[in-house]
Amino acid sequence: MSNEKVIIIGAGLSGSMLAIYLAKRGVGVDVYEARGDMRHETVAAGRSINLALSNRGIRALREVGLDEYMLAEAVPMYGRMVHSIDGSTKLLPYSGRTGEFINSISRSGLNIALINEAEKYPNVRFHFNERCVGFDCRSGEARLESGLHVNADTIFGTDGAGSVMRNAMMRDVPRFDYSVHWLEHGYKELHIPPTDGGGFRIEKNALHIWARHSFMMIALPNFDGSFTVTMFLAHEGADSFDEIDSSNGLMAFFEKYFPDSIEHLPTLAEDYRANPIGNLATVKCSPWNVGGKSLLIGDAAHAVVPFYGQGMNASFEDCRILDEIIGEHGTDWETVFDEFVASRKRDADAIGDMAEENFYEMRDAVADPVFQRKRELETRLEHEFPDYFSKYSMVTFRDDLPYSVAQKKGNAQDKFLMALCAGIKDVDRVDIRGILSQIETLVV
Ligand SMILES: Cc1cc2nc3c(=O)[nH]c(=O)nc-3n(C[C@H](O)[C@H](O)[C@H](O)COP(=O)(O)OP(=O)(O)OC[C@H]3O[C@@H](n4cnc5c(N)ncnc54)[C@H](O)[C@@H]3O)c2cc1C
Repeated sequence: MSNEKVIIIGAGLSGSMLAIYLAKRGVGVDVYEARGDMRHETVAAGRSINLALSNRGIRALREVGLDEYMLAEAVPMYGRMVHSIDGSTKLLPYSGRTGEFINSISRSGLNIALINEAEKYPNVRFHFNERCVGFDCRSGEARLESGLHVNADTIFGTDGAGSVMRNAMMRDVPRFDYSVHWLEHGYKELHIPPTDGGGFRIEKNALHIWARHSFMMIALPNFDGSFTVTMFLAHEGADSFDEIDSSNGLMAFFEKYFPDSIEHLPTLAEDYRANPIGNLATVKCSPWNVGGKSLLIGDAAHAVVPFYGQGMNASFEDCRILDEIIGEHGTDWETVFDEFVASRKRDADAIGDMAEENFYEMRDAVADPVFQRKRELETRLEHEFPDYFSKYSMVTFRDDLPYSVAQKKGNAQDKFLMALCAGIKDVDRVDIRGILSQIETLVV
């Protein structure tokens, strides 16, 4: 494949990961990125500073030789630490098996590691401050803001949720299917600093959740002892960003809903003022490719809301699966892209749907005693029968099971277990083997 040359638009997480996979196969890669080189510039405030990395993402990192490097500075999170309004806390483990946890890692640290790794290959070149402003689906040529017109054997669109490449396809590809579902909630990032001694102010190894039914706040640990806090609130209406802003009621809001967090947020007012409100949406589209001329990958093809912690993991899985297909068909791009889309689209739709559903689970159900009993029961099931996987575990800790299968199986299990847990008080006293037998008979 040494004569093959491709272009990647966007050097975010997907674009940089894809560049490595392609370079390993001997393909020449030019990556055009709208922003400056993040290795020399400060990252704009407001984008999620840390991310939950789990098994699907780790598998791809392993294949490109970066798993150990990234995990060395990750903070393991073993469960959700639920903060009640009275200040009490309860840890709900993510899994009943030992060794299963998610990892909080730095977004910029990861992106930089991927770019550095890609640049080790002589056949990869990054071009920063080169924004793509158009793509011609017929000629396969991309137009850059600098005036350059670039062309290659094929062009990958990894330019994120607001993809210019996708917009061009929408305009030029007949019957291009596109949907965007905006969440009525937005997000704002806040900051818990380390203690004076550099330690963690709240439990280090957990994803903290303040679930308040119609809204919530979460905190993920950073390697330096700080936490990145994300508040998810409706843009408008009761208990919204609008309401806080119009009544100047930030402190009153926190005293009412998140009182135990205030002592850990010394720069709450400044952070709230300084950081933008981000929007959240699920984007679905089809087809992702224009014959063999172009393919969308990652958020450009399927942006998902962040509530399953899977957007990046799914994007890395995209790259891994695409690479497998290239392994079978070489650079017969049309065949590769058609096969990729045929096998991957239903899984992208599945994780998009599950991520939206998980918003309601996190903000609402996590504080519900029936849901808490169900999680305890599932943890027991996983502990005693390691072959049992909850829906969360199938999505998060399996790197071999398609999302669409996890969704189908997981939904059937959830329905059964929620009904069961509504009728019991103590999960330690149930016939656990009998429950497993009933789960095994569920038709999916
Ligand atoms: C608040 C929040 C929390 C999240 N938490 C998690 C998590 O815990 N775990 C997880 O797995 N996922 C998480 N995600 C999702 C994750 O961030 C995305 O799925 C991931 O960043 C997708 O990578 P990407 O490279 O496809 O897109 P992006 O990361 O958006 O990268 C796109 C790149 O393309 C560049 N670009 C854009 N337009 C152009 C253009 N016209 N020309 C050239 N370059 C362009 C951009 O500058 C950027 O570098 C979260 C998302 C949000 C918003």
